[in-house]
Amino acid sequence: MNVWRRLSSVALVLLIFSLIFFAGGCRASKSPLQPESAAGPLKIYTTFYPLYDFTQKIVGDRAVVENLQPVGVEPHGYEPSPQQIASIYTGKLFIFLGEPMDPWAKKIEGQLNAKGVMTLEAGKGLIENNDPHIWLDPVLAGEISRRIYEAVVKVDGDNKGYYEKNLQELEQKFTMLDKQYREALAGVTRKDFVTSHAAFGYLAKRYGLEQIPISGLSPQQEPSAQQMAELITLCRSKGVKYIFFETLASPKLAETLARETGAGTLVLNPIGGLTPEEIKAGEDYFSIMAKNLASLKQALE
Ligand SMILES: [Zn+2]
Repeated sequence: MNVWRRLSSVALVLLIFSLIFFAGGCRASKSPLQPESAAGPLKIYTTFYPLYDFTQKIVGDRAVVENLQPVGVEPHGYEPSPQQIASIYTGKLFIFLGEPMDPWAKKIEGQLNAKGVMTLEAGKGLIENNDPHIWLDPVLAGEISRRIYEAVVKVDGDNKGYYEKNLQELEQKFTMLDKQYREALAGVTRKDFVTSHAAFGYLAKRYGLEQIPISGLSPQQEPSAQQMAELITLCRSKGVKYIFFETLASPKLAETLARETGAGTLVLNPIGGLTPEEIKAGEDYFSIMAKNLASLKQALE
């Protein structure tokens, strides 16, 4: 190898090292010319999909919303990694639902507040009997959104007008959704529907329906063999036409029940999280709630 080539490769290595060192040094020292808090965008963390979706619709492009729950992961029993927990401290606002959904969040709330991160327990006072699924009632989802708006305005009052406009649009969508559900479900013949897990209690209560869940308040709470036998008897006696299953939980029990009772199966999505396919298709809370209504109508006719 000639001397020049050797020298230039040494110089290249030195250049790469100094670039890495320089970049690392900058990140670690937080140059006083560009303080991160002032230059960086407003960052908000949410624990699972419905909170993410509502928050995103309120903040639009004025903030970055990070959802901790990975795509395609069933939210019950989900806990973030230590790295994810550490990242929450870099945000301005942390939004969770409440103990029955994200018990780990309640535990770190005090520490986050002490470090200057504002927190919102969005389901406080709305959750009854340990049942976290309040977002599936459009009226309660509207209340959750209003609370998110109020928290966002507290950390970023400068954009209040913009957030308020977005909230108003969102509230109109919830009002419309509630109206569609009320009108469509008022005239159905059947009132009871069989769900994979007990996610639709608030929705059933709002529209005068009755939910018959296969599993408990989370998909992990599976029925015993005896409970399953009782469900089969109940579905046969009521002449249930469809058994609902979910996108993020195993359809095994719903399929068994359908097979044993001669019923069909349909999806009723609890919107605890989206699948990668749903995200790719541009689905959100409202598009899935519309599909849920179509499925409910079909099952309750
Ligand atoms: Zn659930």
